[in-house]
Amino acid sequence: MSIKQNIQNIKSSISEEVTLVAVSKTKPISDLMEAYNAGQRIFGENKIQEMSDKYEQMPKDIEWHMIGHVQRNKVKYMAEFVSLIHGVDSFKLLKEINKQAVKNDRTIDCLLQIKIAEEDSKFGMSIEDASTLLQSDEFSELKNVNIIGVMGMATFTDDMTQVENEFNYLKSSFENLKTQNSELKVISMGMSGDYQLAIQCGSTMIRVGSSIFGARNYQ
Ligand SMILES: *Cc1c(COP(=O)(O)O)cnc(C)c1O
Repeated sequence: MSIKQNIQNIKSSISEEVTLVAVSKTKPISDLMEAYNAGQRIFGENKIQEMSDKYEQMPKDIEWHMIGHVQRNKVKYMAEFVSLIHGVDSFKLLKEINKQAVKNDRTIDCLLQIKIAEEDSKFGMSIEDASTLLQSDEFSELKNVNIIGVMGMATFTDDMTQVENEFNYLKSSFENLKTQNSELKVISMGMSGDYQLAIQCGSTMIRVGSSIFGARNYQ
């Protein structure tokens, strides 16, 4: 099936309230343009350099989401154009994003990445640390970042009961944090293999790569 058909199929199977981020990492510009021509305007990348290169080459009405782990020394390369950073997992990183946002005279939207998987390899903050951050004075002094929600990645497993438990945990963490900060509105969870389950568990934003663009080849 074509990229266009894949996007149409996914869009027709989800509610309009759920945002579809097309994860285009490793894919060539021609594939991104096919998605663009099918009406897709939100793209997700996990490497800052690759996202900047694609930003230069693609039309300018695209929202670029950084969905990968962010190194602080690279924030400056995306600060001018990034529209949402999903993987914020420390105050230090948030401070750097704020600094680069100030330099570019803009405000950058961010999600706090919460660790929901058992795997040690996954990044993210505990719900307690996220809560402490949101209530801290240091955070209230950062005027050029907006935290608009949370992001999580479930364990890579076929055990859908475990994945469901992890998604439910993120949803309840979100509700918890929302009682402290009413600006929170986004729950970014769900990928190609589990986005339907994620939506049932309350996801408002899904990050879908291979179901749109096909399998990735990593050299
Ligand atoms: C690659 C990636 C995705 C998309 O994965 P697919 O299984 O191809 O849909 C989603 N989220 C993050 C953080 C990713 O790195």
